[in-house]
Amino acid sequence: MSSKTNVWSQVQEVLAANKAKPALVEALEALLAPKQGGGSTNPPMMIDGVQHYWCRFHSRYEPETNMVMSNDKSKGYCRAAISAWNKRNTAIKKLEKEIGELIIAGDMDQARECSEELKAAKDQISNYSTYDFDADWAVFNRHAMVEVKGQL
Ligand SMILES: [Zn+2]
Repeated sequence: MSSKTNVWSQVQEVLAANKAKPALVEALEALLAPKQGGGSTNPPMMIDGVQHYWCRFHSRYEPETNMVMSNDKSKGYCRAAISAWNKRNTAIKKLEKEIGELIIAGDMDQARECSEELKAAKDQISNYSTYDFDADWAVFNRHAMVEVKGQL
């Protein structure tokens, strides 16, 4: 049993014992209830008058301007995160192509080596803990500046 689940059952006991107000119970439920199906249930949140959404790649709230939005709904990730994901995905596709070429060329040792690299890359792309908020946004902003310069 996770510590979060422990906390939740303790909170439920306290609430029941104290006949807490329904609104408070609801708010605490949303905050502490165990996550269903492992998915993120972090609701949108107003912080300093700015709408924030949960970025699942960076495990934090980010302002709406950071987020990838669709029909006024957050996709659950920011622009820097999806940019980092795209970059990794491009590298994976490139590796897959290289491995194919190596196999055709009969270079099995090299192909095996690249396959190890490919496996690691595939493990990492879906592992949110390998994404770094500061680093991903630094890369994203640098890239955006180059694009602006290119347009001048
Ligand atoms: Zn993010």
